Amino acid sequence: MGSLHTEELDTISVCPQNPLDPEEFRRQGHMIIDFLADYYRDIEKYPVRSQVEPGYLKKLLPESAPYNPEPIETILRDVESVIVPGITHWQSPNYYAYFPSSGSVAGFMGEMLSTGFNVVGFNWMSSPAATELESIVMDWLGKMLKLPKSFLFSGNGGGVLQGTTCEAILCTLTAARDKMLNKMGRDVIGKLVVYGSDQTHCALQKAGQIAGINPKNFRPVSTTKESAFGLTAAALRTAIEADVTAGLIPLFVCATIGTTSSTAVDPIGPICEVAKEYDMWVHVDAAYAGSACICPELRHFIDGVEEADSFSLNAHKWFFTTLDCCCLWVKDPSALVKALSTNPEYLKNKATESKQVVDYKDWQIALSRRFRSMKLWMVLRSYGVANLRDFLRSHVKMAKQFEALLGGDGRFEIVVPRTFAMVCFRLLPKTVLVPGVVANGGAAAAAAAEAGELERVNELNRRFLESMNAEGKVYMTHAVVGGVYMVRFAVGATLTEERHVNFAWNVVLEHAERILGEF
Ligand SMILES: *Cc1c(COP(=O)(O)O)cnc(C)c1O
Repeated sequence: MGSLHTEELDTISVCPQNPLDPEEFRRQGHMIIDFLADYYRDIEKYPVRSQVEPGYLKKLLPESAPYNPEPIETILRDVESVIVPGITHWQSPNYYAYFPSSGSVAGFMGEMLSTGFNVVGFNWMSSPAATELESIVMDWLGKMLKLPKSFLFSGNGGGVLQGTTCEAILCTLTAARDKMLNKMGRDVIGKLVVYGSDQTHCALQKAGQIAGINPKNFRPVSTTKESAFGLTAAALRTAIEADVTAGLIPLFVCATIGTTSSTAVDPIGPICEVAKEYDMWVHVDAAYAGSACICPELRHFIDGVEEADSFSLNAHKWFFTTLDCCCLWVKDPSALVKALSTNPEYLKNKATESKQVVDYKDWQIALSRRFRSMKLWMVLRSYGVANLRDFLRSHVKMAKQFEALLGGDGRFEIVVPRTFAMVCFRLLPKTVLVPGVVANGGAAAAAAAEAGELERVNELNRRFLESMNAEGKVYMTHAVVGGVYMVRFAVGATLTEERHVNFAWNVVLEHAERILGEF
């Protein structure tokens, strides 16, 4: 890098006159596709979790941007030598961290078309196909999920593609807030209360912060191991009643299907029943697990959704659609529009005035928006419902396979029941200090001994996980629920096959033996 003077003249001559020269696009486009095809083919040769240290890239790149152009060949060489080492390989079949980001050929092709057209479809007029395709695929996917008609355009609801769940929750919370404020008066904003469980994604807290909800009125309701860390209607009711007694106004509850820590499921039906009594908005966050509900045998996890106000899932998580693509359905689109619409002169047009069209700018935070429906359409058409169900089922099956391997070995514990394609487990130490034996009487002493033991096992598992990830053959991440540190094994990377799960099991065994030996 750092071009030499002698090279400068050459590079100028290869630079096309126009930055969107069609033939140069063809040439470079093929090169990048070839590069990525090789990358996917050879991806297992890299450590899954990047092994670089913070600040590594600054040492490798020049202080300022080049004055003269550089050829794509040189740039691609640098991608390989300086960028790839700093990549954590989310598309690796040995990737089990966080929730995987399942790419696919169809999703990628759709992304290319979307990027290629590069339209900015803020309203219908700005690209009718972008708006109409979005409405159509959202109805298609809604039907695949057996969402009630009230969530579809063919009912009185509708769907929109947002970038992320964070945006979807912020938009719905804002809609709910304005609906309530219009009814109760703007000055009650400090009294509005937002509920979720203590397992709810931090997206809810952030949405509250942005939407002007009093930070004191954010209620993460406690969950327990007994309810598998799901939010019970009884606990929700207790929290709401206490707030109402204190003169506060319950506004919004976020129910999660497949929590991030442990894929816990909040019972939508009973939660909606409580919420209805208080005229609250219920949002269902099914970011990870929602897509699996296209399988009839898993659909029961969203039973009760017909009573909710909005529902969202991330197609970029477990639905083969590249980042970003969050699908949000609402029963009352006018609530979103009332809270989020603007009508500047420069965007006025006959289609909008006719009220015959959807202007998606009024359903989201930003004005500009990508043609995301192109990739979802490609995914739905290229694979069809039958294959999509089978892909998801194969991930669930592989998770079960891993779960069975763990279950057959006495050194591991499955910490919470598996619901989808993620297994939460921990390694157990050879000797467990039994609390009752340690202290000579006294509940406090026993509790202290128990806490000490819990921390000891947590530390064992921290070391166990870091040992695996530092080696780089697989990548898993952790969560803590009910004080227990556990390793999350999330199957869902598109390239993962059964042999990879067996390989991961061998990695687990190898590191477990080593860490137990040292502990
Ligand atoms: C991943 C996840 C989110 C956040 O999704 P973004 O699209 O990154 O905003 C929210 N909720 C749950 C349950 C998740 O798993």
